[in-house]
Amino acid sequence: MIRSHRIRLNPTPEQATCFAHAAGTRRFVFNWGLEEWKRQYEAGEKPSVLALKKQFNAIKSEQFPWVYAVTKCAVEGAFMDLAAAFKNFFEGRKAGRKVGFPKFKAKKRSREGFYLSNDKFDVSGHWLKVPKLGLVNMAEPLRFHGKILSAHITRTADWWFVSIQVEMPDLPKQVNDQAIGIDLGINRLATLSDGGVFENQKPLRSLLRQVRRLSQSLSRKKMGSRNREKARRKLARLHYRIACIRDDMLHKATTALAQQYGFIGMESLHVKGMMQNHALAQALGDAAFGRFTTFLTTKVAARGGTVQQVGRFSPSSKTCSCCGHVRDELPLSERTFVCPDCGFTLDRDWNAAINILNEALRLSASGL
Ligand SMILES: [Zn+2]
Repeated sequence: MIRSHRIRLNPTPEQATCFAHAAGTRRFVFNWGLEEWKRQYEAGEKPSVLALKKQFNAIKSEQFPWVYAVTKCAVEGAFMDLAAAFKNFFEGRKAGRKVGFPKFKAKKRSREGFYLSNDKFDVSGHWLKVPKLGLVNMAEPLRFHGKILSAHITRTADWWFVSIQVEMPDLPKQVNDQAIGIDLGINRLATLSDGGVFENQKPLRSLLRQVRRLSQSLSRKKMGSRNREKARRKLARLHYRIACIRDDMLHKATTALAQQYGFIGMESLHVKGMMQNHALAQALGDAAFGRFTTFLTTKVAARGGTVQQVGRFSPSSKTCSCCGHVRDELPLSERTFVCPDCGFTLDRDWNAAINILNEALRLSASGL
């Protein structure tokens, strides 16, 4: 099992400048490779990333001597990215998906960062040793123990982070036959089929006013000015903070569920489709169903359990979990389910969670 630990770095100003240079080098080399590919292709040649890399390495000392100022992993990583971009493009095309041709990396749009192969860095306590940079302080020591595979250094808002990939022994598979159904929601993050609840802290909603104020302030600043850059950073930091609060909440909920249950039924969510409804989008983005599903699936699978997804068109909210009667309509404002047939009354989401569990068990038993 490969796990990745993301740690905030506390670089000196010189080190931070050096990170930015390495990230810039990666971007430059990627763009050089892409441009050269296009040129060769238009000239009727058959470009390949491997050949481009050789070509670059042959001319770099003469034309781009400054690449020697940063770790050579920055150049390596750029060609790895380029190869991945073309692989994604060609394979996507073959599979009939709509994949755009690789794009140039712009400084503002693309994620700043670079890659380090495992022979190019060392980790010891709170220190990360990077070639040509020396020791960089880490906010916490590496939590995972195992074979270190690689590292990525990236920038989010104003901070630099290192993500270290570690190969770890698989968790012992625990046989756990406890089953639960989950109804994901906006008001409550999750309602369980046993009546349990995970509240949604709504980090975005409570900080929304702040986001709105900062966005307005940003839009009033003159293009390209120092103040605009300052405002942009402030907003980015706020978004980052919100994402941290949200992920923390999602991790706590999914860990608790994965520890307790070996079989989990939940609705498959076509989050993108739901996001088109703008009024809901904010709250949905806030609750981050997609991340919840990913976290939970990974954690349950690591323990040998199963997450059974239920089609979103099975009417879990409108069905009576007691007698199976399906109501024609159930407006969102009705928070309590009342069955017109048998008189069964239950909290709307709780009723839905029971239906989701039953449907998941049925699907799993029939092997679908
Ligand atoms: Zn009923």
